[in-house]
Amino acid sequence: MFTKSHKASSGYPSRPVVSQIDDPTYLLCKELTRILLPIKEKAESFIQNSYHLKEILSKVDLQDFKKYIQISFDMSNMYPSIPIEETLQLVLEELLVDESLSQRTKWKPHDIVKLTRICMETHFKTYEGYILTQTDGSPIGKSFSGCICGIFVANFEKKFVLHNVDTSFSCPLLWKRAEDDVYCIWQHGPRKADMFLNFINSRHLRIKWTKEMQNEQQILPFLDMSIQLENNQLITKVYRKSTHTLRYSHFRSNRPKEDQLNNLKGLLHRAEKICDRECDKFEEKQLLSNAFIACGFPVSDVDRIVQNYKPKTEEEKLQERENLNKLDKMYLPYIPRVSNKLKKQLRKLNIHVVFKRGRTIGSILCNNKPKNTNDKRKNVIYRIPCECGMVYFGETGQWFDARVQQHQTAVKKLDVKNGIAAHVQQTGHTIRWSEAKCIDQHNYYANRKMKEAIYINAYAPGEGNFGCLMNNDLGSHIDPIWKAISSVIQDSVKRKDI
Ligand SMILES: [Zn+2]
Repeated sequence: MFTKSHKASSGYPSRPVVSQIDDPTYLLCKELTRILLPIKEKAESFIQNSYHLKEILSKVDLQDFKKYIQISFDMSNMYPSIPIEETLQLVLEELLVDESLSQRTKWKPHDIVKLTRICMETHFKTYEGYILTQTDGSPIGKSFSGCICGIFVANFEKKFVLHNVDTSFSCPLLWKRAEDDVYCIWQHGPRKADMFLNFINSRHLRIKWTKEMQNEQQILPFLDMSIQLENNQLITKVYRKSTHTLRYSHFRSNRPKEDQLNNLKGLLHRAEKICDRECDKFEEKQLLSNAFIACGFPVSDVDRIVQNYKPKTEEEKLQERENLNKLDKMYLPYIPRVSNKLKKQLRKLNIHVVFKRGRTIGSILCNNKPKNTNDKRKNVIYRIPCECGMVYFGETGQWFDARVQQHQTAVKKLDVKNGIAAHVQQTGHTIRWSEAKCIDQHNYYANRKMKEAIYINAYAPGEGNFGCLMNNDLGSHIDPIWKAISSVIQDSVKRKDI
């Protein structure tokens, strides 16, 4: 569950975000994304990123009207608000008129929609072991959700914003959307902007928008740009939230130096592309320069890169990508000093090395995953003690608490086939049910059986001798070599007892 901690005023809204990478539909979702993406991208309002928007802004003609206002609109809770049935119908309509569909896939529109419906079904396993099903809205964490939402919102815009003929409102001069954020240039004054907001908020029960107006200096931040309206011109520069700390990864951190310097180059690229005025560009470069030197980068390196930086042309980038694609790739962990030399050597053999992110101090010290509670676990090996100190080891593919209940029933019925029940029948002892614990886990039956046998045999003194065990048998046959580490296994069980 992902909680928006910065939204205290609305009671910390949260939404389920679960990686769907190991979901059975993962690959299918990916293929559907490939098929549906061009439909999303052909929407009239579609913008890819701030560079794309900047290009569009440079072509906007602002001469005809006197009073423009910049407004950003934001669709509240976009993913969960999308009505699925309605959207699937729209997807079908779009697919049926898509002339280039046959170039992307042999699948027929109806089949694509059927597959999309199957992929929509989303389940979340909670840490308590309960499985929750998302019944409506598009699932966050599945790759095609962006396309699905894009298709729905594009249709909404087509009907009510861009070609809205059946009301007295005129359309906005410019309406460009990146996912759920819209940049809008409004030419009918602030009062009508309020009416326009009311209008689009009353079109669909579940679709709600909020708006933010430009400030007194006629500046509106949008994506990572600060856009200023001045003398009927739109002037952009880099925008950072006031909470931005300007802390980039420290030069001494365990990362390839090349990547770290590329990080600076990336930000310089943004400065070059987004800042219109030379003074803004200069200021931004100065800021980056200081920030990176403060992060331990050598002054000479930073100065050299900042002074000599020239943005690559699209052709250069394309060429670079093509060259890399020709090489074989190898993924390695990064080890300072050794890795860079290795990378150079492998490059001579036409192998491109990509460094993987290794373990970080954060990942070692901090585990945010809540622990499984004992009862709501499946596929476990467990241990149940008696008041006399004897123990029972078992394994189960069911919920652990359900399995314990079965043992309790067996005891009540004095079912001697059950080891615990047989012990109670013979001795009249009381079983310490509250101390029953899971001690190990494996998803596969054969491996669980193996582990169960390892635990049992670590406690059984010898063949046919059950020692302090309540078990009726020794479980699966295992190699006697395991006996050599019985004490280690017993210790590990003791640790899990705490
Ligand atoms: Zn006992």
